[in-house]
Amino acid sequence: MIDAMSDHALAIYVKLVDFTEQVRSPKRSHSSHKRSHASHGGGRGGERKSRNLFTHIDPLLFTSPFIYTVCICGQRCLPAEEEFDSFMRSQGTSERERFSAIPLVLTELQSEARSLGLWNLFMLKEHNLTLHEYGLMSEVMGQAYLAPYACNCAAPDTGNMEVLHHFGTAEQKEKWLAPLMNATIRSAFLMTEPDVASSDATNVATKFSKFTSSNGHICYRIKGRKWWSTGAMDPRCGVFIVMGVIVDENGDPVNTERHQSHSMLVVPSDSKGVTMVRALTVFNYDDAPFGHAEVVLDDVVVTAREALIHEEGSGFMIAQSRLGPGRIHHCMRAIGLARRCFDAMVDRSISRVAFRQPLLKHGMTQEKVANGLADLESARAITLLCADEIDKVGARGAREKIAMIKYAVPNMCLRIIDDAIQVHGGLGVSGDTFLAQAYSFMRTLRIADGPDEVHKMTVARMESKKAIKRLQSKL
Ligand SMILES: Cc1cc2nc3c(=O)[nH]c(=O)nc-3n(C[C@H](O)[C@H](O)[C@H](O)COP(=O)(O)OP(=O)(O)OC[C@H]3O[C@@H](n4cnc5c(N)ncnc54)[C@H](O)[C@@H]3O)c2cc1C
Repeated sequence: MIDAMSDHALAIYVKLVDFTEQVRSPKRSHSSHKRSHASHGGGRGGERKSRNLFTHIDPLLFTSPFIYTVCICGQRCLPAEEEFDSFMRSQGTSERERFSAIPLVLTELQSEARSLGLWNLFMLKEHNLTLHEYGLMSEVMGQAYLAPYACNCAAPDTGNMEVLHHFGTAEQKEKWLAPLMNATIRSAFLMTEPDVASSDATNVATKFSKFTSSNGHICYRIKGRKWWSTGAMDPRCGVFIVMGVIVDENGDPVNTERHQSHSMLVVPSDSKGVTMVRALTVFNYDDAPFGHAEVVLDDVVVTAREALIHEEGSGFMIAQSRLGPGRIHHCMRAIGLARRCFDAMVDRSISRVAFRQPLLKHGMTQEKVANGLADLESARAITLLCADEIDKVGARGAREKIAMIKYAVPNMCLRIIDDAIQVHGGLGVSGDTFLAQAYSFMRTLRIADGPDEVHKMTVARMESKKAIKRLQSKL
């Protein structure tokens, strides 16, 4: 059913917004729809909508999680951005203030999404979804930046939950996975380090010194400095997954094989020896209250029984598996965001007049719109193709396509956002629309999931292997 609707996802979205507006307040339905659309280009939020939207609509109309996702994103998460932003503005400017509280509206959105069953959707089996189907939902969620949080489908928790789900012990699942699934805590993934080129995960240098405690427990003493730890500043963050190298008493790796020397440990965020050094900013955005932290781990002690994920030496393998299907989510959300920016560009170019005609009548703007649509549809098509391949042959079999979408999609989406900014003129680079923040988010995607170059290297290597095989078969 979801499949059949995929090509019309946006049309459905628009119709539903219109329809629900009419049900809620028939007299002003059309104009208010237009207003809310216009506000997507001219401000991040829009007018505040009814909190009880779903009580006005026959629930039988909504027969799939996809429709619910469309509704909650369009009707609740988009309008809630205004309240979210205004709460954050009222929090003051210091780091302590910015990362001290979560806006109530997010908690409300979470209860709403949960009551509709839109909760932990990335756990595909539990929801009987294919990755392709979840990809479509991610696209919708990407249009409203609160939606992934509202549905407990936001990074880095999704990846961390998957790690605990697949590799955690029963005890780790009970202690950390259960509260993460309930969103009573959040988590961070601590791999990247300021002192080493972390795009090559085998460089990660944080040390896990192994020792036996006085009461006979195998323990690790953790020493290292991490940064870009997304979510670590969130006041709800309860746990880190930390990547490091197990070393002996001389500080030498216990296993010298590059891909087997790293391990992952679960570390409570309030452990003795954990220091939040600072919140990093991306083009001056601090992403509060979630944030990206620089964290020092100085003689943090954990027991192997409680902390070790899977087995010693499996850190690289876990890091790789964490970056598989999860990328589809990122890419589809990126496409959703690019779609929102594309729509804002078209809306603006219809209404803005320069040199005696609307911008959209100028050939160079038409080119932006035409190229933007082609980029959007191409990005969408290759991502869904990749999702299909993962559904059919698993993440390992779809490795090349996964690597390909990781650089292709953010680049295409970035071009769209850049053009949308251009069409908005000065407004586009200001803080008065969501475009500048969207650009900063999209730009980081070319690095945050591993730089473009690393994914291109993977694709080029795989293609070269194929070529060698081809040539050999001709000999
Ligand atoms: C917003 C944001 C959120 C993030 N969240 C997290 C998180 O939650 N947890 C976490 O652990 N990390 C996170 N990261 C970090 C991210 O994963 C790393 O920044 C990324 O892997 C690159 O590592 P690096 O910064 O050390 O760059 P380096 O490894 O120093 O690479 C620098 C540059 O070298 C070039 N390069 C690298 N390899 C090659 C190659 N093979 N060929 C040619 N050129 C190459 C590329 O241009 C690359 O950008 C986040 C980053 C950002 C920006």
